[in-house]
Amino acid sequence: MATDSWINETLYPQWGQRFLVQRELARVQSDFQDIVIFESETHGRVMLLDGVVQITERDEFVYQEMLTHVPLLAHGDCRRVLIIGAGDGGVLRRVLQHRGVERAVMVEIDGEVIRLAKEFLPNIAGDAWTDPRAEVIVGDGIDYVTRAPDAMFDAIIVDSTDPIGVGEVLFTDAFYANSARILSSGGLIVNQCGVPFMQADELRDTSLRRASFFPHVGAYVAAVPTYVGGFMTLGFAAKQPGLDAVPVETIRSRAAASGITGFTEYWTPEVHASAFHLPPYIARHLPKQ
Ligand code: SAM
Repeated sequence: MATDSWINETLYPQWGQRFLVQRELARVQSDFQDIVIFESETHGRVMLLDGVVQITERDEFVYQEMLTHVPLLAHGDCRRVLIIGAGDGGVLRRVLQHRGVERAVMVEIDGEVIRLAKEFLPNIAGDAWTDPRAEVIVGDGIDYVTRAPDAMFDAIIVDSTDPIGVGEVLFTDAFYANSARILSSGGLIVNQCGVPFMQADELRDTSLRRASFFPHVGAYVAAVPTYVGGFMTLGFAAKQPGLDAVPVETIRSRAAASGITGFTEYWTPEVHASAFHLPPYIARHLPKQ
């Protein structure tokens, strides 16, 4: 039974989306952020951090599939994957869908996000939490990459909040320098770079920063209904050339070999390849290669 209360997202002061609340499930002020989870009329269960939509049950597949399957299949032989943030567990589940992955380390700063996601959003991660290949660490991503040994990972996936508050350190030179150091010679890193129609600075600044540590920097897009403002950009930085232009048939055969074919709602080999073809209003924010 719907309440008559609405929750307004507070990401943009002059514009935004709102949700009709069916039932509020959790409201916790953790050591790092304000966590709210509620049942909505339209998008299933929704998690907000500091008033900003992080995930909804109805559209999480778009973002999670594109943030995970694109880098892993672009690389083609990812065995060791580092996930930073992603406390809802959705990226962890998608990474572990890839048969070739031998180890997935997830470093989330806020244990309360993981606890509440397990309790109120169990379908997002499913049984990924107990997969023997998974290691879940509650800690700051910057500390982990600073301490990790050289060339330890094939891919790094950063599913963080925006570059304000606890997430800010994940958009710094120190973070990218260490990320480059702990990636193998064919390694790559992807991270959420915001919705450029509203947050162009985030994409521009992040891309410029990564260009100091990675020879190949670009971005790809996904249309995530509740990341309002048009295309969401996912930043892409690689040590080797051409990972953003892998032929569709190569992607298709890699997907079949990985075991993800038929288990996606947004990602396809064609969607993957076309996501790197950026409209000018987005492409202009990337450093010239
Ligand atoms: N997909 C969402 C987005 O694009 O806005 C992000 C979802 S995920 C829940 C974001 C996670 O990043 C949060 O759980 C937050 O606690 C975590 N996070 C933020 N800063 C972090 C840091 N420095 N180290 C590790 N995790 C961090």
